[in-house]
Amino acid sequence: MSEESERIVWSNCQFMPWIEVVTHPTGQGLHYGRSVFEGIRFYDTDRGIAIFRLSEHLDRLLHSSNVMRLTRNGRIACAENPYPLKGKDISQILVREFSLEELQDIIKELIRLNGIPEGYIRPIFFSVGTIGVKPSGGSWVEGMIEIRPWLSTARGLLKVKTSPFLRIDARSSDISAKIGGHYVNSLQSMWDAEDSGVDEAVLLDQNGFVAEASVENIFAIKNGVFYTPRLGTILPGITRDTIITLVRDAGGYVLEQNLLTDFFKKADEVFLCGTAMEILPIGEIDGVKIGGNGNIGPHTEQLINQYHDIARGKNPTYSHWLTLVD
Ligand code: PMP
Repeated sequence: MSEESERIVWSNCQFMPWIEVVTHPTGQGLHYGRSVFEGIRFYDTDRGIAIFRLSEHLDRLLHSSNVMRLTRNGRIACAENPYPLKGKDISQILVREFSLEELQDIIKELIRLNGIPEGYIRPIFFSVGTIGVKPSGGSWVEGMIEIRPWLSTARGLLKVKTSPFLRIDARSSDISAKIGGHYVNSLQSMWDAEDSGVDEAVLLDQNGFVAEASVENIFAIKNGVFYTPRLGTILPGITRDTIITLVRDAGGYVLEQNLLTDFFKKADEVFLCGTAMEILPIGEIDGVKIGGNGNIGPHTEQLINQYHDIARGKNPTYSHWLTLVD
């Protein structure tokens, strides 16, 4: 039995064993990427298990759900236990709406039920039923929340390449939302990076400026100043926001602007950031060693330590970012 099969998930309003979850292969979620999701982490702290920036993640989930028209009455909603479908009138499937506080409670309960002290939370909501692109009856929304242990992401210094794939343009889709369909862009750029023997891809926007990595935002540091691509062509990352806040709170400067790949190659330090990966220093871009020697720089190192301290509840200034499970 795999480790997953022992786990409890929340699926369509019920807690149930991972192996008992079912869904239907019709629907815009699977066929056209009409799904929205989040990646959230929880940490073991001295005060017990704490979820990092949970309300910001749920705010973004609500935003994404609104963009993909998966909400009902402005709330995240999903079918209540629709299976088995046999003998059911699909138009009669019950739908439940959730406030963000209720979703917080479900996530806390899921952590308790699984007894995992540190890990990753993946809520996903998606459209099932009709496969027409044009909206019509016969579709419903399903929701699932899964949690899993997540080990340390320390992976040494990353080698990255400029991707031949451009980041999805903001005129092609609402890229401020975390939508399943967007991730074919991430997958293809990541496969290309792997095929080239590097760890990650850095995607440019349609104007040739650096946008972000396949699943992380990117920062450069030059002469003590932090630089990061402006919002508009990237997913507004919560870790990106955490870093901007920390640097500015400490009296430092962060500039959000259009930046060329060359700027990153000539920077003193470059790192990627995201909830799952936390902060990952980059040693090389397209074979060019960052900071001359490709080693981790002092600002990145300090930030990694600060981030871990905050996530593990060791810095009371930022305890408002932690939601305690108990
Ligand atoms: N960009 C993309 C495309 C992502 O998938 C992620 C991961 N959610 C990020 C940036 C980082 O976002 P966050 O810090 O909110 O996890």
